[in-house]
Amino acid sequence: MPSSRTRLFLSIFLMSLLAAAIKRSSLNIFSRPIAQPVTSRAMHVQSIPMWEGTGNNYAYLVTDDKSKEAVIIDPANPPEVLPVLKEKTDSGAIKLSKIINTHHHHDHAGGNVEILKHYKLPIIGGKDCSRVTTTPDHKSQFHIGEGIKVTALHTPCHTQDSICYFFEDGSERAVFTGDTLFIGGCGRFFEGNATEMHKALNEVLASLPDDTKVYPGHEYTKGNVRFAKKVLNNDAIKKLDEFSQANKETQGKFTIGDEKQHNVFMRVNDPNIQQLVGQTQPVEVMRTLREMKDRS
Ligand SMILES: [Zn+2]
Repeated sequence: MPSSRTRLFLSIFLMSLLAAAIKRSSLNIFSRPIAQPVTSRAMHVQSIPMWEGTGNNYAYLVTDDKSKEAVIIDPANPPEVLPVLKEKTDSGAIKLSKIINTHHHHDHAGGNVEILKHYKLPIIGGKDCSRVTTTPDHKSQFHIGEGIKVTALHTPCHTQDSICYFFEDGSERAVFTGDTLFIGGCGRFFEGNATEMHKALNEVLASLPDDTKVYPGHEYTKGNVRFAKKVLNNDAIKKLDEFSQANKETQGKFTIGDEKQHNVFMRVNDPNIQQLVGQTQPVEVMRTLREMKDRS
């Protein structure tokens, strides 16, 4: 017969085994993967063409689908933008929270005063933008609704206050580039130089994930392809040529990865381009390409 002391030890041992088993099973309950409802998180980008046939500008209305919070980017021509905003805000489809400007030029920030008469909104933009309330620091971030994270990227050259905005929503990425990067081209160096544009395109924007969709401030793709074909003929440029002949609008259809292939200003290290322009230093290639484009 076991002694009472042995029985005590035995029962303590069995109880601790039981306690450990309960703990393990309860942990298993909590660590078991719980089925999550599938939610489609996607920012919604609506292009609003302005001055079609002349400036061929785009304003963009970007909405966080879940919260309906929305921002309007470069609403430069209120007669073309306000009806869209009115319809969406009156129906409750969006809650407009900000104006965002890519730079101070009139065909980008020139609608701010008129828009403010209809909507009391803060204006996020470069320091010289009309009625700007906040100029974000380089790489600073803010959110739109629950899903969209925005990173401001300073890209001075076209103007010194040029800012590109990198939008992320789950796995979806977009960059609004104003007049810094176009599909297949870049903006004129009005307030800056080739060193700055080289940095803007080939360091700042080139470092974004390759699947980032590009939304520029103008539809200039056809003219850019005409120039690109004189400088380089690769498959990517041929594809862009075909696409731009078949489609009136090209914004959001190409990515940073595509630009690295078909945008000659992002191929300053391409030996074929270097040979054609007679330069090997990337900044000098950039300068010469821009001069050639300006003369074309
Ligand atoms: Zn501009």
